[in-house]
Amino acid sequence: MISECEVFIGFGSNLGDRRALINQALQALSGLPTTSLSKLSSLYETVPVGYLEQGGFLNGVVLIQSSLAASDLLEQLLAIENRLGRVRKERWGPRTIDLDILFYGDNLIDEADLQVPHPELGNRLFVLEPLCEIAPSWFHPRLDGTISQLLLQYQLKHPEEVAGRIVAPPPMFALNEVRDGIFYRYG
Ligand code: ATP
Ligand code: CA
Ligand code: CA
Repeated sequence: MISECEVFIGFGSNLGDRRALINQALQALSGLPTTSLSKLSSLYETVPVGYLEQGGFLNGVVLIQSSLAASDLLEQLLAIENRLGRVRKERWGPRTIDLDILFYGDNLIDEADLQVPHPELGNRLFVLEPLCEIAPSWFHPRLDGTISQLLLQYQLKHPEEVAGRIVAPPPMFALNEVRDGIFYRYG
């Protein structure tokens, strides 16, 4: 067992009942061994990048505390995706749920099946916005800046890109509490 680590998970859904799928994914995350949820961003409605002929996304970021090793956590995320009906066809195609490890503490991981911090994080508004909502002063150890600095850099570089529209404030849930498939946070 390793010591507890702060881990940011980016999530997205653009197929099926997106909000319900996100709730189920969050619920599954909070049920992982040695893992609890501690902060959740709003949900952002965003337009697809890359493969454009697909429905819009709901994106967000959740901060968890976990003692799972990064490789075990990745395995668990892929299992949750599979359980929630994720089928991989074309890369960046439609998906019921996508769960990416954005940061695993301030660890740098460069393995064939796992790169952390997520290599595309600085190029994706749909990640930077929700991340900045919950962790503006988190420091990116490779890009050498805080999340709010990275978001500002991105916006200066892509002034034409519209920000994601917040469609739901963070679900109000007691940390780790789920009722009727909905998370509740107090305080
Ligand atoms: P992208 O990684 O560009 O966001 P994607 O999320 O659509 O693309 P997937 O098909 O979900 O890609 O994942 C493909 C593989 O990416 C996974 O099986 C996993 O091994 C690998 N991977 C590498 N780094 C990470 C990471 N930080 N978080 C999640 N998966 C990762
Ligand atoms: Ca992804
Ligand atoms: Ca992924």
